[in-house]
Amino acid sequence: MVANRFTYDLTHRGISAWMLSFLLFAFYLDLYFTEHLSGVAHALGLDGKWTLYGLLYTIAIVAGGIYVIRKYRHNRYQIVRTCVVMAVQIVFGFSVPNLLKFLHQPEFYFSYFWPLKLDYLNPGYLFSLPLPYILYSFLAALVAVPILGAFFGKRWYCSWVCGCGGLANTAGDPFRHLTSKSSAAWRFERFSIHAVLVISVLLTVLMFVSWGARGKYPQLSAFTTSFQSAYGLWVGSMLSGVIGVGLYPLGGTRVWCRNFCPMAALLGLTQKVGRFRIAVKENMCISCGLCSHNCEMGIDVRAYAQTNTSFTRASCVGCGLCAEVCPRGVLRLENTSALVQITGV
Ligand code: SF4
Ligand code: SF4
Repeated sequence: MVANRFTYDLTHRGISAWMLSFLLFAFYLDLYFTEHLSGVAHALGLDGKWTLYGLLYTIAIVAGGIYVIRKYRHNRYQIVRTCVVMAVQIVFGFSVPNLLKFLHQPEFYFSYFWPLKLDYLNPGYLFSLPLPYILYSFLAALVAVPILGAFFGKRWYCSWVCGCGGLANTAGDPFRHLTSKSSAAWRFERFSIHAVLVISVLLTVLMFVSWGARGKYPQLSAFTTSFQSAYGLWVGSMLSGVIGVGLYPLGGTRVWCRNFCPMAALLGLTQKVGRFRIAVKENMCISCGLCSHNCEMGIDVRAYAQTNTSFTRASCVGCGLCAEVCPRGVLRLENTSALVQITGV
């Protein structure tokens, strides 16, 4: 009884939710702007605060993943997806980069791509890496990501590979319903996510120009370095970490993914012209609203179901929870052919 009341308070913006949010904010501010956690890391025999953070992040995804697998144990899509998310984090998000570091190789994250990881198309950094890493970065960002996005929508990355989405869909699952469904939130999302994408593209172009003219225009180099620092501070630290995770208990788990992630913006554009859609079975919806309530991206799924409209929304990460919770089996995630997209049959 007491446990139930606490769970409700925590997952419905009660006092404990505010306290947890405060603690998460404090943790991320401490992580990014002080060296306290370096001391903790060294006391634990780790080589620095980022290794400690990677370990904690991985533990959170694995523990949350076990919770999610138990919760949705009757749903194969959720089980397989969650296992993949956990495996990607354990292998590519933690073990491989640390093994590379141990072997005195570049610490490289094979599950992150430009523009989420801006350095992976930053010539000043990228061209200091061995050739296989350079080829991997270019081919992944400019060829594989858009092609996979066109065929499978953004779900292949946002719900199956990405560590940010991984944390949201595991440890963050109890807070998924908190995402705002208001039209004001939707208008903000459309502006903010594309603004960050434009800024990330401009910065990448600037990094290439500055790298090409290195040694000739010191002011250009200085401006580029300042731009990179500002982007790292506001986008990399504040929006993705402090705000993105700090707001889990109050604003839902996809604040970063929905409003600021440049990778999600890019994949959303390819999704709109690609094959992914959520198919709606006609005249089956009873308007219970469970789908909209559980949508972590704030999409009003019920409105589409009520009007028998199959849809593709740029923000949909293909988590599949709307289909999972629907008591009438109205919704189905599918990668359809271009012909079906055009004719609607
Ligand atoms: S519409 Fe469905 S699949 Fe897409 S993000 Fe919302 S709940 Fe997930
Ligand atoms: S959960 Fe299913 S029945 Fe309920 S509103 Fe959504 S589509 Fe309709």
